[in-house]
Amino acid sequence: MAYDDQNIFAKILRAEIPCSKVYEDDFALAFHDVNPQAPIHVLVIPKGPYVSMDDFSVNASTEEIAGLFAAVGRVARDLGTIEGGYRILANHGADAHQEVFHFHVHIFAGRDLGAMLPPR
Ligand code: 5GP
Repeated sequence: MAYDDQNIFAKILRAEIPCSKVYEDDFALAFHDVNPQAPIHVLVIPKGPYVSMDDFSVNASTEEIAGLFAAVGRVARDLGTIEGGYRILANHGADAHQEVFHFHVHIFAGRDLGAMLPPR
């Protein structure tokens, strides 16, 4: 799938639509999810145009990959989740119900997050 620069996170990166920002550096932007699934639900996105984890892992530079995942760890720490715990998740494609086609890592925290996957 080709990257569509009209996706909602591309518009957030260009500040065409607002977000509730929690962190930004040269490689990543983190903001609160608009429809939170946990008391803490933050999205961390790379600044580059990558569709999903698959695209990111193949086409991003080592510096971009390191920068994104360092930001994920830092944001989780800054949100005060280390003692209680947190979960990270990234959806790729139809089976995972990916909705926004700009790679993003979800950070969930603030309650017992239950089983890793819902029961079938
Ligand atoms: P996905 O299913 O693609 O992994 O998750 C996309 C996430 O983006 C969803 O959790 C959804 O609530 C969130 N989202 C969709 N549109 C917006 C938006 O305009 N702003 C923010 N902050 N989050 C959004």
